Amino acid sequence: MYNVKSLKAEEFISHEEILATLSYAKENKNNIKLINQILEKAKLRQGLSHREASVLLACSDEEKNQEIFKLAEQIKKDFYGNRIVLFAPLYLSNYCVNGCVYCPYHYENKHIARKKLTQEEIRREVIALQDMGHKRLVIETGEDPLNSPIEYVLESIKTIYSIKHKNGAIRRVNVNIAATTVDNYRKLREAEIGTYILFQETYNKTSYEKLHPTGPKHHYAYHTEAMDRAMEGGLDDVGLGVLFGLEGYDYEFAGLLMHAEHLEAAFGVGPHTISVPRIRRADDIDPDAFDNGIDDEIFAKIVACIRIAVPYTGMIVSTRESQVCREKVLKLGVSQISGGSKTSVGGYVEEEPEDARSEQFDISDTRTLDQIVSWLMESGYIPSFCTACYREGRTGDRFMSLLKSGQIQNCCDPNALMTLKEYLLDYASEETKAIGEKLIEREVPNVPKEKVREIVYKNLKEIEEGNRDFRF
Ligand code: SF4
Ligand code: SF4
Repeated sequence: MYNVKSLKAEEFISHEEILATLSYAKENKNNIKLINQILEKAKLRQGLSHREASVLLACSDEEKNQEIFKLAEQIKKDFYGNRIVLFAPLYLSNYCVNGCVYCPYHYENKHIARKKLTQEEIRREVIALQDMGHKRLVIETGEDPLNSPIEYVLESIKTIYSIKHKNGAIRRVNVNIAATTVDNYRKLREAEIGTYILFQETYNKTSYEKLHPTGPKHHYAYHTEAMDRAMEGGLDDVGLGVLFGLEGYDYEFAGLLMHAEHLEAAFGVGPHTISVPRIRRADDIDPDAFDNGIDDEIFAKIVACIRIAVPYTGMIVSTRESQVCREKVLKLGVSQISGGSKTSVGGYVEEEPEDARSEQFDISDTRTLDQIVSWLMESGYIPSFCTACYREGRTGDRFMSLLKSGQIQNCCDPNALMTLKEYLLDYASEETKAIGEKLIEREVPNVPKEKVREIVYKNLKEIEEGNRDFRF
């Protein structure tokens, strides 16, 4: 019998199907009747197929494009309200045995400073992150079985969760490490990680093999099937992403959605998040050397079309993007952003000397977390440090059914306000605090259910009295 779980990478990301999708999208980019039908379907908020979404992405009719942006904005509002979840990356090690040509951590780069944090250094980094106000991290390492084996990653996660400094705690550790075995994914599950994130970089196999000439990452199928193994290992919150700029953006867009469709078909749950990084300048990397760079306009269209195609999937934009660009895509669909980030190993504690730098890429949005929190509030958003779901067992299909029924809002809205309150009391500058207190005063009466509203008032009071022992 046909078993979708046994499909191989080149079957669920079929090159022929992507090419057929791209020519279908091109043929129909001005087919107003078809575009209208797709938009009507999208309004049901149950998503679109990769073919349908690709037609919207290709659409060149100005009026229809405005409708696409408007619909994305509306879907964003319906599913995510005005909350924006905040997180920071934590680089543990930049030793890497792979040869990725777009990343300065590639093995051939002999002049970048190579660093690996000890558990004591991780402690110091985490305290610095807690002192900024972060509750949610994503840990990053290069792939190196000797320097950063799974045991090192697991020990580091344990260290991170164990640190309670003042009122601080990291309540959710998401993990971005190289594709690995089902057994290792099981171990990550047991270590209580949040989301397992792995970027595909590019879905085009031929390009993938050229861009990854050496090292274990060279194997397209092993990399592309990683999320299947992660799911098999019990990690049901997985995060997809491509690195825009490596291949044609329309190819990557179709591949990304086909990957999401595959996970949904095989495991009953699509990706928890999709990240949309664009290639950035770094130590020995010049983004202009890649032919497929995309401008801000196309980038915004991609974000809008992803929002429409997979309304239930969170979308992440990092500090690779500028303030202006982030402002634009927040409106169109992005639900999580990083803030106050360092992309070097050990960068939260120490400024690196010019001749020993270890960043993975240059940051574009260099503002502090406090500045970002303040900016979000002034732009009409509620910054959220909520991490409740995985600790409450709301992962995978359980999470998705709450999201699809709209019930998750009963958790997200109050948790955003309560975690913001914690942030304001413990970490915010006086100016940010003043803006935030007004926001909380204004927003709490809008919490729809009376019973939930009462709980929020009670918890806010307890937070003021010093209680930080809440499950959000
Ligand atoms: Fe290593 Fe990842 Fe950089 Fe590739 S992208 S060189 S695997 S750290
Ligand atoms: Fe995210 Fe769950 Fe918190 Fe909502 S309640 S913000 S979905 S962790």
